[in-house]
Amino acid sequence: MTSPVWHPFFQHGLEEAIPLVSRAEGALLHLADGGTLIDGISSWWVTTHGHCHPRIAAAIAAQAGQLDQLVFAGYTHEPAEQVARGLIDLAPHSTDCDPLAHVFFSDSGSTAVEVALKMALGYWHNRALDGLADPRHRILVLQHSYHGDTIGAMSVGERGVYNAAWTPLLFDVGTIPFPYHGQEKETLDALETACAQNPAAFIVEPLILGAGGMLIYSPAVLQEMAAICARHDVLFIVDEVMTGWGRTGTLFSCEQAGVVPDIMAVAKGITGGAIPLAATLATSRIFDAHRSTDRSRLFYHSSSYTANAIACAAAVANLAIWREEDVLGRIATLSKGMAERLAQLGEDPAFTNPRQLGVIAAIDLIAADAGYLSDLGPRLRAFFLEQGILLRPLGNTIYLMPPYCLDVDQLDRIFAALSKAGDIFG
Ligand code: PLP
Repeated sequence: MTSPVWHPFFQHGLEEAIPLVSRAEGALLHLADGGTLIDGISSWWVTTHGHCHPRIAAAIAAQAGQLDQLVFAGYTHEPAEQVARGLIDLAPHSTDCDPLAHVFFSDSGSTAVEVALKMALGYWHNRALDGLADPRHRILVLQHSYHGDTIGAMSVGERGVYNAAWTPLLFDVGTIPFPYHGQEKETLDALETACAQNPAAFIVEPLILGAGGMLIYSPAVLQEMAAICARHDVLFIVDEVMTGWGRTGTLFSCEQAGVVPDIMAVAKGITGGAIPLAATLATSRIFDAHRSTDRSRLFYHSSSYTANAIACAAAVANLAIWREEDVLGRIATLSKGMAERLAQLGEDPAFTNPRQLGVIAAIDLIAADAGYLSDLGPRLRAFFLEQGILLRPLGNTIYLMPPYCLDVDQLDRIFAALSKAGDIFG
């Protein structure tokens, strides 16, 4: 029987295997046909502590029987209040910067980014209404970025074959070149020049660009980017959707640069990956620009499921895990195991450019036809599936983003499959 399901980022017509997954625990997916897969990418970078974590599952079950969903426009519930307070406590802090003090909920990384962009433009709009500033509209972005697939999020992401059909819907942005090693000065000079034109905001993925190819840059560059924005009063937005929740070795990536943004988007691991939730954090100056008796200033944004109580309860459980368990210790151990094996794989002539940040490891397969439109990615996916591993290479870039509970045996099996892929496809 053919399925009516239309899959995301999946080439119907080219790819065939669509495994039916019936159960999951830790880093393992159990297939309906009795097989298993090791989840090498935390099911799209979200299941940080592993699948079906008992504390998160229990919190969801309890909340589902108590309060499921509540209109959030002017009503609230304890799980949302607890998550908001927890996020503010855990968010990056610095004595030199205004703290992130307000939390707006949404339900995916893309919507958290949309909210961030709307907050930034709303801030300048309302400041202009008060006669305190000229309106500012332009957004600066980093080359090769990915911020999601809704219209605004696509607008601030890299343009290419994957969004060409929707060009008429996308707004114009200023693109700053990526700070490749040795080219950091060009990036910072370009940002300084662009900031002098009074844009509204600059949005970045801190320290590593994910879907753009697992491209890493230094904390010093991130710090300098933040300083340039501060000098020109350009709002600094960090997208911690992928990098947050320990993925880069610290709870949030911008901690490594000592940077506190004006606006920060988080999602994915906020619930430990069990259920959709996202949040956009902002400083008081952003919030205060929308706080007014004048009805034209309110933040006109919502969605039906804003701060869904079941999702918030899952996030409360995730925050408790972070507070009470040695998650960073687990991450450090896994990161070390990945580094040792990646160094070995880097010796294999089939591969080049091994790189790692926290528990993200990537390496490029040397292959003749490796572009985005080549079928190398789908063929690699099918190969890994046969090996019992869930991986989704980006073209010729093979990356791992495993759940933090991955054990040594599972890690060895993944690296054995990578090595085999080098023999076959390299
Ligand atoms: N921002 C970044 C940096 C991401 O990596 C992603 C997704 O991978 C998103 C935003 C979009 O998140 P979502 O897929 O939850 O909409």
